Amino acid sequence: MKDSFGRDITYLRLSVTRRCNLNCVYCGKADCEKKEEELTAEQFALLAAAFADCGVRKIRLTGGEPLVRGDIVEIVRYLRAIPSLETLALTTNGVYLARYADELRRAGLDSVNISLDSTDGATYRRLTGADVLHKVFDGIEAAERAGLAPIRINAVLMKGVNADGAADLIDLARRKRVDVRFIELMPFSDEGEDASRRVTGAEILAQFPFLRETGGADGTAVYYTAEGFVGRIGLIDPVSRKFCGQCSRVRLLCDGSVKPCLGDPAEYDLKPFLNDPARLREEIRQIIQKKPAGHRFGEAKQFHGLNQTGG
Ligand code: SAM
Repeated sequence: MKDSFGRDITYLRLSVTRRCNLNCVYCGKADCEKKEEELTAEQFALLAAAFADCGVRKIRLTGGEPLVRGDIVEIVRYLRAIPSLETLALTTNGVYLARYADELRRAGLDSVNISLDSTDGATYRRLTGADVLHKVFDGIEAAERAGLAPIRINAVLMKGVNADGAADLIDLARRKRVDVRFIELMPFSDEGEDASRRVTGAEILAQFPFLRETGGADGTAVYYTAEGFVGRIGLIDPVSRKFCGQCSRVRLLCDGSVKPCLGDPAEYDLKPFLNDPARLREEIRQIIQKKPAGHRFGEAKQFHGLNQTGG
């Protein structure tokens, strides 16, 4: 369905947990929340079906870290059963992906985005607080074997931290059928507020002039490739190249609240309507009409602890 600015809202980012096994320096996630807060797989299925009845055609499971939920395969199976759903995707830090990739594919998952900010072990440990880079590489290979596609590697570059590793990340797209996408640092934490840390897509293009635009933009990312590359490079610049005019997404948080915009504090609780299907759909339609024109990144500090929704 269309929001009040005429945008087709077809994409639901569903955060199944706020819990996470990593502690990335730029992620403003609140302290690890307790499991009690989280909806059950059945409740997510009920809400996702209601969003599908309101025009959602793509659902991305995210978090926190979705693979910390022991019932993640069951959640995928429930959502895959929604007839009008066209795409079911997952965003993960990849640490547990080797364990789940095959089961997730068989349960009906289509594609996966894996967050990887550095291919250097020491830098990865400094950014995430964990020495698990080898497990992420295992997860990428497991996703390839399982036939999940597309596989996207999402990286956030920070000057003075991991920006010098951009070439190694780009090399993954030269060698593998993956999209390596650079997401601009957003203001969800002290680090995220520090604009001097931010690496823009324009700076990446200046540093790697061999990249050629492929014309395959998808609303948030603009894609590039180069001679001899198997995969692509994507640039996602929410701060320096606002793409709110093409936004198609809303977010459902793990406690049943809806966040129409990642860069706006407004949230609306759907839990009270779980047992009233008609009212639930009406609430969703009204919330979509409340979606703001765009994010407010760069304004006063209001985003701390915001990013429990998987970006
Ligand atoms: N745990 C999963 C993961 O690591 O992909 C899903 C949740 S995580 C919040 C989703 C994405 O948000 C990750 O790719 C992460 O890099 C990105 N992200 C988190 N904080 C960010 C920030 N301040 N700026 C840009 N991207 C951010």
